[in-house]
Amino acid sequence: MKSARIVEVDKPLQVQELVTPKPKGQQVLIKVQSSGVCHSDIHLWEGGYEGPGGQLLKTTDRGVKYPLTPGHKIAGVIDSLGEQANGNSKNEKVLVFPWIGEGLCPACRMGKENLCDRPRSLGIYTDGGYSEYVLVPSYRYLVKIGEELDTDTTAPLSCSALTAYGAVKNTNLTPNDIVVIVGAGGLGLMAIQLAKAITGSRIIATDLDDEKLKEAKNNGADITINSKKEDPVKAVMELTGKMGADAMIDFVNSSKTVETDMKLLRRRARIVLVGLFGGELKLNLVTMPTRAYRLIGSYTGSIADLIELVSLAERGVIKPIISNRFKLDQATEALTMLKEGKIVGRGVINP
Ligand SMILES: [Zn+2]
Ligand SMILES: [Zn+2]
Repeated sequence: MKSARIVEVDKPLQVQELVTPKPKGQQVLIKVQSSGVCHSDIHLWEGGYEGPGGQLLKTTDRGVKYPLTPGHKIAGVIDSLGEQANGNSKNEKVLVFPWIGEGLCPACRMGKENLCDRPRSLGIYTDGGYSEYVLVPSYRYLVKIGEELDTDTTAPLSCSALTAYGAVKNTNLTPNDIVVIVGAGGLGLMAIQLAKAITGSRIIATDLDDEKLKEAKNNGADITINSKKEDPVKAVMELTGKMGADAMIDFVNSSKTVETDMKLLRRRARIVLVGLFGGELKLNLVTMPTRAYRLIGSYTGSIADLIELVSLAERGVIKPIISNRFKLDQATEALTMLKEGKIVGRGVINP
């Protein structure tokens, strides 16, 4: 099989001919039809990302090994199954849950493998979807996709949309709540669609870009605030009768945005931090208990969340947008375009 692989960091990906794996036990071999490109693939390609004080946090220090076939947003059809792979059949169209754990830690045992102590995520710690075939360790990580959906639009659900969904769930919103969503990029827009569809809460979206705020309105935001033009603290306090927001979801998560978030909170508010911009925060510790705030970090979602998400997509509640399609030997081009911000919506590789 052909796979586009990171052999050396920062060098073009190489299309290599590898032995096609044979599934054993619970394993399933998927013929990849769509593999989404993601910003975290760029970090794998560059060999790290910027940590506190501008220092490079190396991927190899987190257990990543090269050569690596990236790709964690994978959809395709079942090619072959191990002898213990139950409940699926050949040629079935599936989406792969990539946030795989080792299966034994407390998180795995609660069905939250995305929070495993020793993650084995596909396309990060093991070979992923920039390939004609991918070996999935168990049939339990496959989600069937209905006729309504094609693999290109479904593949990105397992990362960006799942992250947005996990974040919305972590807010525990109820219909009378007001939620502020910070950042109206891809993740923020998806969270707005989901919050609108499943919580019935009032949604305030903030961003620095009027174009993105217009999109936020189109996706279901009730009110938008351009925090470059008006003071978000003043605006949110006015909109909430000086009470503050019941929940915040911060898709930027920088020192500046979270400092502002902390001034917008109603008593009992949940602050869900998702973005990877980073920085640090000075907390007024007494207000944490006296106002019963909950500070929550949110990372992707569980397989149960992904099943719900696919069902929402089948019913047309959420609509992922695909803008660029690439072949396997264009993997370097795909990552370069993504890095330079030339992909609007989602890019996908069709091996
Ligand atoms: Zn991703
Ligand atoms: Zn685990």
